[in-house]
Formats: sequence, structure tokens, C-alpha cells
Amino acid sequence: MALRAAVVGGGIGGTAAALALTRAGVDVRVYEQAQQLTEVGAGVSLAPNGLRMLDRLGLGEGIARVGARHLSAQLRLSDGRPAPHQPHQFAQPGRNVGIHRADLLALLAGRLPAGTVATGHRCTDFSQDAGGATVFFANGAAASADVVIGADGIHSVLQGFVVAPAEPVFSGVVAYRGLVPGLAEYPAGTMRMWVGERKHFLVFPVRAGQLLNYVGFVSSDTSVRESWSAAGDPAALAAHFAGWDPVIGQVIAAITGPGGSGFAWGMYDRAPLPRWSSGRLTLLGDAAHPMLPHLGQGVNQALEDAVALAALLGSCAGPAGVPRALAAYEQLRRERTARVQLGSRRNGAGYDSSGSQLTDRRWIYSYDAWAEAAALAGTLG
Ligand SMILES: Cc1cc2nc3c(=O)[nH]c(=O)nc-3n(C[C@H](O)[C@H](O)[C@H](O)COP(=O)(O)OP(=O)(O)OC[C@H]3O[C@@H](n4cnc5c(N)ncnc54)[C@H](O)[C@@H]3O)c2cc1C
Repeated sequence: MALRAAVVGGGIGGTAAALALTRAGVDVRVYEQAQQLTEVGAGVSLAPNGLRMLDRLGLGEGIARVGARHLSAQLRLSDGRPAPHQPHQFAQPGRNVGIHRADLLALLAGRLPAGTVATGHRCTDFSQDAGGATVFFANGAAASADVVIGADGIHSVLQGFVVAPAEPVFSGVVAYRGLVPGLAEYPAGTMRMWVGERKHFLVFPVRAGQLLNYVGFVSSDTSVRESWSAAGDPAALAAHFAGWDPVIGQVIAAITGPGGSGFAWGMYDRAPLPRWSSGRLTLLGDAAHPMLPHLGQGVNQALEDAVALAALLGSCAGPAGVPRALAAYEQLRRERTARVQLGSRRNGAGYDSSGSQLTDRRWIYSYDAWAEAAALAGTLG
């Protein structure tokens, strides 16, 4: 009989895990608290290491259709002059792809067998014994499985069944982000970041170039609740970037025009966790390693987790092998993601000091999580 998996959380991490597990022959159900699977109106940059995982999931063609390849990746000083940096310290031109978060979620969820996702299920509790695990929901339902995957984001309920509860850490930075229609003034196929003192501003195209994703990062003494939906004030954003390259002003001006959107988001992460797994329960994506966006890796690391976990669980002889497979998953993933978490903090400080001491990303981009997990699976016996 196929292994049974319950994935809690239907974000990008949870749906990617469900798709990878389905393809590995695991019988999967996803439980999402919202009434429907949704993502906010914002873009995400897919890096070579994440794109490699999407290829493994058979989504390469879909990504090429709805994404926007960044043919050029430019790091600029606040006045628009090129910043002094090495190419591998920002992005890999021609290899990164911008995508609307909702488009990525739709691609992943669209490949799941009918009936995989149960919405309106908010997980509140968990229990396990030697024979299996059960998740409990606020609506009174319960689900049993051989393995439970907590993909329930930075405020993960399931994390509390693995480690002692702790609050996320405010980074002192607020991100104003959203989408505007493509602008004549903005060069096609270009990802551009402007760096200054205590601020930086990022723009890249998504949805085949029809839309531009923008994020203005500013230091703030006041912590803002991390949220996808808090409205961001375009006038405040414009004031923060007054006197910078006029292209930034044009992007900000478009926020209040037709098709523009903006919201503000306090940025939080956590220190790397000492453990991810307990018996038949493990964590994935932001539930395991919430990170600041300054290496653009949150989604990319969640995709790596998903494919690696599926390779290891897919090689399990049966339910009895689950704890061992989860221990191997944690062994493979925890150190790498911790490095990316801590590197993201450092790289944000580099951006906010006019681009000094930026991280060399080659070790992140060249990694093939599937190949590493497949090799490890071969040693489990
Ligand atoms: C400003 C900014 C820019 C970013 N840019 C990038 C980028 O360019 N590239 C990149 O790779 N990453 C980026 N990230 C990071 C990325 O957005 C996250 O790492 C990623 O979305 C995490 O996905 P996830 O599925 O693990 O968690 P989430 O997206 O948080 O999904 C969790 C899901 O679980 C559900 N849920 C929560 N609790 C429960 C419960 N109790 N029961 C049932 N369901 C529950 C939620 O409703 C949600 O659907 C950025 C982040 C920020 C803040």
C-alpha cells in the first residue's frame, strides 16, 4: 500500500511538496486553513536552484509561459550608476525568472490529482504513536497519515510539536511591495536593484513582462505585523526614495494608476531551528526556515525541501521507514538552509550599505537538491 502523507498548509511550499510526493508514488492530502488556495499580488524571483526543482516536477514549460526571464541583472547605486560588485553577487543574468506568486501556485496546484486539497481546514493539534500520526482541525475533523509535513508558514502550529515555541524576530526592515503594469521607461527583461544607505529598491518583470514587481526595503524602528495584506502608503514610499534614480519615482507613481497595487510588510525571520523532525512529523519551507528575502531564496529553498523530501520518502519501504527518512531529510536540508537564513541577514546589511560585502551566490545556485537526496536515499537501504 502507498505511504499516506498529510501536508498542512497549501502555500507554494505545501503544494510543491504535494506534487513531488504524488510523483514519488505517495498518497497525499493537503489541508489549508483558507477557504481557497490563494496567493497575494506580488512576484517572486526563481533562481537556478529553484528552477531546477520545478523542471524535476515537470513544470519547466509552464514556467517559461507565465514567467519572465531576467536577461539582464543590474545592481545600481541610488543615483542609477552601476554599483561596484561581481556578477555572481546579485543574480545570474539569463538564469533567474520572475513569476507572479499566484501563477506559480496555480501551476503547482493544477498538477495535483483532483481531491488532493482540502480547504477550510485549520490545524490546531497533532498526535502520534509508533503506528501513525493524526492532525486535528478547528472544524472538528481529524486526518491520519504515516507522515505529517508542516508547511504552515512562519507562524507554524506544527513547529510547536518539534521545538519549544519562540517568537519570530523583527529585522528592523519594512518592505513596501506590489505590482504595476509594464512601463515604457523600464528596460524589458531586466531585474534591477538600487542600493543605498539603510534602503534598497528592487524591480523585476513577471507574467511574461506584462507586470513589474517592485519592493522598496526601508529601515524602521517600529515593527509592523508581517502580513501580505496591510496597505502600503505610496506617498510614504515615494518620500523614502525621494532623490533616488527617477526610474524608481516612475514605478512608485504607477502604484496608484490602473492595475497598480501596494502593501507594506514587516520582515521577520527566525534563528535556524535545532531540529525539524519528531518521529513522523517534519517541517518544510517557512515553517522550518523563515528567512529574510535578501538572497531571494525563501521560495527556492521551499522547492528544494519539497523535492528532497519526496525523493527520501519515495524510497521508504513502508510506514516503519518514515522516521529514518525524515531524519535523513533533516540531515540534508537543515545545515544548507541555516546557511542561507544567516546569509540573507548578512546580505541585507550589505545592500543597505550601498552594496558593500555582498554574498557570492554560486554555492546556492549550483546545488541540485534532488541529486543530493537521491544519493542519500540510496544509502538508506
Ligand atoms: C518582501 C519579500 C520578498 C520575497 N521575495 C522572494 C523571492 O524573490 N524569492 C524567494 O524564493 N522567496 C522570496 N520571499 C520568501 C517567500 O515568500 C517565502 O519563503 C515562501 O512564500 C514560503 O512558502 P511556504 O509555503 O513555506 O509558506 P507560506 O507561503 O506562508 O504558506 C503557508 C500556508 O499555510 C497555511 N496555514 C498556516 N497555518 C495553518 C494552519 N494552522 N492550518 C492549515 N493551514 C495553515 C497558510 O494559509 C498558507 O497558505 C520573499 C519574502 C518577502 C517577505
